[in-house]
Amino acid sequence: MKKKFDKKKFIAEVKDNVKTLYRKNLDEATQEQIFQAVSYAAKDTIIDNWLETQEQYEKQNPKIVYYMSMEFLMGRALGNNLINLCEYDEVKEALEEIGLDLNVIEDQEPDAALGNGGLGRLAACFLDSLATLGYDSYGCGIRYRYGMFKQKIENGYQIEVPDNWLKNGNPFELRRPEYAKEVKFGGHVHVEYDPKTKENKFIQRDYQSVRAVPYDIPIIGYGNGIVNTLRVWDAEAVSDFQLDSFNKGDYMKAVEEQNLARNIVEVLYPADEHYAGKELRLKQQYFFVSASVQAAIAKFKSRGGDIRKFYEKATFQLNDTHPTVAVAELMRILIDEEGLGWDEAWEVTTKTCAYTNHTIMAEALEKWPIELFSRLLPRVYQIVEEINRRFVEEIKAKYPGNQEKIRKMAIIYDGQVKMAHLAIAAGYSVNGVAALHTEILKNQELKDFYEMMPEKFNNKTNGITQRRFLLHGNPLLAKWVTEHIGDEWVTDLSKISKLKLFADDKKAQQEFMNIKYQNKVRLAKYIKEHNGIDVDPRSIFDVQVKRLHEYKRQLLNILHVMHLYNTIKDHPEMKFYPRTFIFGAKAAAGYRRAKQTIKLINTVADVINNDASIGGKLKVVFIEDYRVSNAEMIFAAADVSEQISTASKEASGTGNMKFMLNGAPTLGTMDGANVEIVQEVGEENAFIFGLSSDEVINYEKNGGYCPMDYFNNDQDIRRVLMQLINGEYSGNDSEMFRDLYNSLLNTQCSDKADTYFILADFKSYAEAQKKVEEAYRDEARWAKMAMLNVACSGKFTSDRTIQEYVDEIWKLDKVTL
Ligand SMILES: *Cc1c(COP(=O)(O)O)cnc(C)c1O
Repeated sequence: MKKKFDKKKFIAEVKDNVKTLYRKNLDEATQEQIFQAVSYAAKDTIIDNWLETQEQYEKQNPKIVYYMSMEFLMGRALGNNLINLCEYDEVKEALEEIGLDLNVIEDQEPDAALGNGGLGRLAACFLDSLATLGYDSYGCGIRYRYGMFKQKIENGYQIEVPDNWLKNGNPFELRRPEYAKEVKFGGHVHVEYDPKTKENKFIQRDYQSVRAVPYDIPIIGYGNGIVNTLRVWDAEAVSDFQLDSFNKGDYMKAVEEQNLARNIVEVLYPADEHYAGKELRLKQQYFFVSASVQAAIAKFKSRGGDIRKFYEKATFQLNDTHPTVAVAELMRILIDEEGLGWDEAWEVTTKTCAYTNHTIMAEALEKWPIELFSRLLPRVYQIVEEINRRFVEEIKAKYPGNQEKIRKMAIIYDGQVKMAHLAIAAGYSVNGVAALHTEILKNQELKDFYEMMPEKFNNKTNGITQRRFLLHGNPLLAKWVTEHIGDEWVTDLSKISKLKLFADDKKAQQEFMNIKYQNKVRLAKYIKEHNGIDVDPRSIFDVQVKRLHEYKRQLLNILHVMHLYNTIKDHPEMKFYPRTFIFGAKAAAGYRRAKQTIKLINTVADVINNDASIGGKLKVVFIEDYRVSNAEMIFAAADVSEQISTASKEASGTGNMKFMLNGAPTLGTMDGANVEIVQEVGEENAFIFGLSSDEVINYEKNGGYCPMDYFNNDQDIRRVLMQLINGEYSGNDSEMFRDLYNSLLNTQCSDKADTYFILADFKSYAEAQKKVEEAYRDEARWAKMAMLNVACSGKFTSDRTIQEYVDEIWKLDKVTL
């Protein structure tokens, strides 16, 4: 099945591609053009496997999971595709022969930044695991013209620059106009009585429509010949200024449909963990969901199934509430187009849809005003109304006379459509993404739903793919691991536990730390090139990279850096192990406090990095434009993994797992998947601090806590807070960080100040940081700890997560070629 790599043929193809694409010889081509040529050469193999896979799927007719997600944070494709084709080394060698460097070529590719952060990256890891494990699956999403903005730092401030990632074309995608679908918006619903069936027919009239055109992106399974599909939808106008519609006086409608098509896929909304209530966002959701549901039904019917048994061959996993309109859209198609009765349609729908919850943050829970929802999706809204009516009847039957239950659980209430409630009412499964998160859902956030339908609730702890985040991102460590325990870990990460045997081995420890050092040199070089800052690869690389959000508490980190700087200045004689604090984070464009935190980090960095008196003991670096491609390099080089969210707020985290896999112990709170990381690696191989999630939740229930007490009673805290407003870092501008200061303190104790418990956790964070330093001084102890983190990371592969989804939720059939 797998054809042997033919070096001569590959080189000839690359040369040929340069010629046909650019009318150039190889030595005249730019590196970007060579990237395209190499990608098209790789695509040749991929297309063969893709065809063969889809042929097998047609034959075997397995159940398909449609993973519906507003975001897929794919990163770069070329390197990963070569890795999964098991041709990376061969291609690298072939290119060397003609004087080309694969690393340089890979660097030409823009990241497909079709996601914000963790939620989108999870979807990408899941697709990798689904293909590797041999399950028929589609990623369903949107082909945004502009993905996540590019972040520039100017004068310490974040500037957002459009990310025109498709500028040079995407060599791996395939446009499939033959599978285009029509998606309708607005208008009104006309009811027509059909005397033959004695039933009402619902017909949408005077609507605007767009044509959804799919682009297929190959998802390559590791070494198994399987190629699955990420299908992202583009929008085109249905009527391309046709003369006849012009003549009919439909000129305005044609223009409007053009604009709708243009706008709908234009941008990815860059708000993470925050619901914005934008009309265009709801349009985007319905657009890709409707097209995906139509495509799923068309595929099912083409394979000759009875639509009443749709759920036997298809399941929809809703990645957060964003695609929840799939519930109503499936009902609409089953009833209006397939002619099923309500109860029949409801049975199919509730056996098809499953929902993953990603957050307990109140501001992230999607709800749409009825006015907006019903105007945009009139027929879908009728269906949601009927679902709600029946659901409220169920609540009443279960809790007679209990208005409170209806208020808390109804799908439509107070003029709003609550998407999470719809997803839970219609889903056959509701899962959280880490053990602690699922418990909080069951006992706090979704308690009423859990009590009414406990059987739906389950946990699926997130995971990451070791193919991208170790095999591709950290080739030195990957090679070393394989030399010691063989290569089974690539497709079975539980095998990585064999490394435990080497944890006390002096030679292994030295080799391991040497690889970490080389990765730090690689990152130091990147920092020198991008930031102009010299960092010492022998210093501790203490890293916090993730979206910027108050609950993730980058502010706690930088306040502690300010405290360390104070300490070093006060006690120049004190022994202090050199540290490099590395940050990387994009802030949502409209999130003022987050952007101020970026400015603070850069301002503090400027002062500290340019203070010769501290002898380079402290450095602070803010890496611009954090994204998957530079993340891979950053994880490989990290000594310390900062996972310091306010306990209870981080549903799982996946960055924490990537650090662990690359041998960086966690410095963190007992939050999200940190809890399970500590369970696996042992408390002695992590640095845990801070309030527990129960303590945080208790404070919140009792009206917050009093940060002023900490301010008054702790002079270290008082000092760094005063430095926010005394111009210490801001060239005497006492107002620059006033908002941050105010966010932490309030003269009266109130639940409005320091809602993320930064002051409450400051002391124990500082103490944990001291323990990090102590541990790092003992080289053997640190090497062992770091190695054990790698060795105990087996649970956190997305292969394990996906197998659990398959076994406990989706019940898919495994396919082999
Ligand atoms: C893994 C990843 C994330 C998620 O990080 P968390 O620390 O879990 O928030 C965000 N962005 C990128 C680029 C990632 O690779």
